[in-house]
Amino acid sequence: LVSRDFHPDNTIVDVAGVKIGEGERPVVVGGPCAVESEEQILKTARFVKQCGADLLRGGAFKPRTGPHTFQGLREEGLKLLAKARTATGLPIVTEVMSPDNVALVAEYADLLQVGARNMQNFDLLRELGRIRKPILLKRGMSATIEEFLAAAEYILAEGNDQVILCERGIRTFETATRNTLDLAMVPLVKELTHLPVMVDPSHATGKRSLVTPMSKAALVAGAHGVLVEVHPEPEKALSDGPQSLTFPGFEALMADLKKLRNCL
Ligand code: PEP
Ligand code: MN
Repeated sequence: LVSRDFHPDNTIVDVAGVKIGEGERPVVVGGPCAVESEEQILKTARFVKQCGADLLRGGAFKPRTGPHTFQGLREEGLKLLAKARTATGLPIVTEVMSPDNVALVAEYADLLQVGARNMQNFDLLRELGRIRKPILLKRGMSATIEEFLAAAEYILAEGNDQVILCERGIRTFETATRNTLDLAMVPLVKELTHLPVMVDPSHATGKRSLVTPMSKAALVAGAHGVLVEVHPEPEKALSDGPQSLTFPGFEALMADLKKLRNCL
């Protein structure tokens, strides 16, 4: 079902009116790693909207490496995202970690994210195949492209064909960046599948200074959009501060991408 051989036409995913896929203007998803407070998410939402972002991101359920760190505001976080959507009109993207929470997250989110750590949570994928909301499926940090596409197949097999693939870097021997951004997967996956492909340069690099250059590289490689973390005070962020853009950094990124989009 994911293969281009059986489905030559490109799939365009419609996220509350924002169209993502081949032939559409590449989109920018901006927002904090996690929703931390009403002030933080509203401030960020208004700022990214003003800069021209297409969607707002923010985690309410956070898949943290250890159990003693901030795990997200859960349903309260979803409610704050809904407030931010009302305030700005931006559709919202947020992660769902367990099959039990699919119905709850789907009540609030316009695009449901499957995190890298859950790419092969097959019960979750099946459950997401049964809803009628678009899914952003992130590549597992140790997943081959074949495994990534097979994971997407689980969602399509249940009847939901609104799936966006997202490269977020993979584990390699290199430790200078948080992950290794596999940009070649973008044109390769576009040859193999009709699904839209996005890139997350924030988790891929782990370093704020690399986010803008790799966002530009992603669009040049043919990505249908980028997913970027931005925080009003990255040094105080409860997660992923070092890779989060500051407001001026995000504004500069958007200015660069606007210029680039005119040349693509
Ligand atoms: C995220 O987008 O906040 C996230 C946790 O990403 P990943 O699953 O790619 O690590
Ligand atoms: Mn993050």
